[in-house]
Amino acid sequence: MKYSYQGFFDLPTLTRAYRYANEKRISELVLDKDNVSAMVDGSRNYGVSMQFEDGKLVKATCNCPLENGKCKHAAAILIYLDEQEIKKMEQFQKNNK
Ligand SMILES: [Zn+2]
Repeated sequence: MKYSYQGFFDLPTLTRAYRYANEKRISELVLDKDNVSAMVDGSRNYGVSMQFEDGKLVKATCNCPLENGKCKHAAAILIYLDEQEIKKMEQFQKNNK
């Protein structure tokens, strides 16, 4: 499944989120067609829930102080999912050589 989030987060947020995505901070990941939720371990545990329409991110909520959900916690989950997808493709290519 592909979740698109282009333009939703600003660049500084994405930069911070990349680090989070690679630090194994994400747990309790639940993937649904129009919904993704997970816990992100930051300065404390943050619960993130995101809504998608036609695969595109339309709304994110997180219980961190940033009110609009456009935070590094939400972004980290999506970057993490992208990286899992890339790993899967790499594995697939390795197995089909
Ligand atoms: Zn947050």
